[in-house]
Amino acid sequence: MKKTSTRLADGRELIYYDAGDDRVRDAVDRRPLDPTVTTSEVRRDPLLGDSVAIASHRQGRIYHPPADECPLCPSSGDRLSEIPESSYDVVVFENRFPSLAGDSGRCEVVCFTSDHDASFADLTEAQAALVLEAWTDRTAELSHLPSVRQVFCFENRGAEIGVTLGHPHGQIYGYPFTTPRTALMLRSLAAHKEATGGANLFDDVLAREIADGSRVVLSSEHWVAFVPYAAHWPYEVHLYPRRRVPDLLGLDEGARTEFPQVYLELLRRFDRIFDEGNGGKDGAAEPPTPYIAAWHQAPFGPLEEFEGVNRDDFALHLELFTIRRTSGKLKFLAGSESGMNVFINDVPPETAAQRLREVASS
Ligand SMILES: [Zn+2]
Repeated sequence: MKKTSTRLADGRELIYYDAGDDRVRDAVDRRPLDPTVTTSEVRRDPLLGDSVAIASHRQGRIYHPPADECPLCPSSGDRLSEIPESSYDVVVFENRFPSLAGDSGRCEVVCFTSDHDASFADLTEAQAALVLEAWTDRTAELSHLPSVRQVFCFENRGAEIGVTLGHPHGQIYGYPFTTPRTALMLRSLAAHKEATGGANLFDDVLAREIADGSRVVLSSEHWVAFVPYAAHWPYEVHLYPRRRVPDLLGLDEGARTEFPQVYLELLRRFDRIFDEGNGGKDGAAEPPTPYIAAWHQAPFGPLEEFEGVNRDDFALHLELFTIRRTSGKLKFLAGSESGMNVFINDVPPETAAQRLREVASS
């Protein structure tokens, strides 16, 4: 893998990740961009104790551009995009409309391929391996920024999730604090350690799922994927490396090598979940399954607010879920979910796991 770092016309950083070691990336961004002015502010809610990023500049961002104006395609001729080169393998750059910036963290965009019409599930294993290298490298780089406490690599896929650009891409958020969901997990981890005299909650959950088996979706030498016992979403899968590591940097060679195959298989199964449905409204072909893929990694820095828990106790894992509950119907976060944070899930986790095993590719 070769990494080449450059700057866009407005000073934002852009990094090429190339499979070939001999790639030369020297194209210059010729757009007349003004230096980016971002005004992101993190405000703390006094009642809930959580934080909200107020980012008013995002209102001006590009919304569903036509394919020939895609800012994530490579530049060609006079059509200048965010990527100055005429082709790329994987590229990462600072978001022009970040939710978090400066002292409040950092937001990056990851383009998985230069092919506008592909999706992650269409990538080859070699391409997916390069994306994993980029995620891992960005996690390491962002962890060195003083404003970043936790690194979150994720993909929103599908217009139903609110994706405004069709080009296959994900994002990386560097948060200036430990996120509420991670804090909840760390508290559960601390309580379990205390109650059991030192057992690790992640290890126990994974062992229980493997022993039970009814919710296991996929199991390989280095990875296990299952629908959690109390899944929040209609179709939700958690993917864990068998050997617990706190972040992407900790993955060993075996897990790293096997990841593309396992993850691509999971994504392809997600695209088949609703295949036997009604074909969507008016019999039209249904758009591909919308999903969110979210990497959970340990925060960086000391965790003294979570008594007795170390970084190494955390288990890196990926949570993959769709907001579609059945053909043509979305799960909305309505009164109970949005108002009270209590999820109502119409699909029993065991049924979801059964469906995700049925649609295996072989
Ligand atoms: Zn594109």
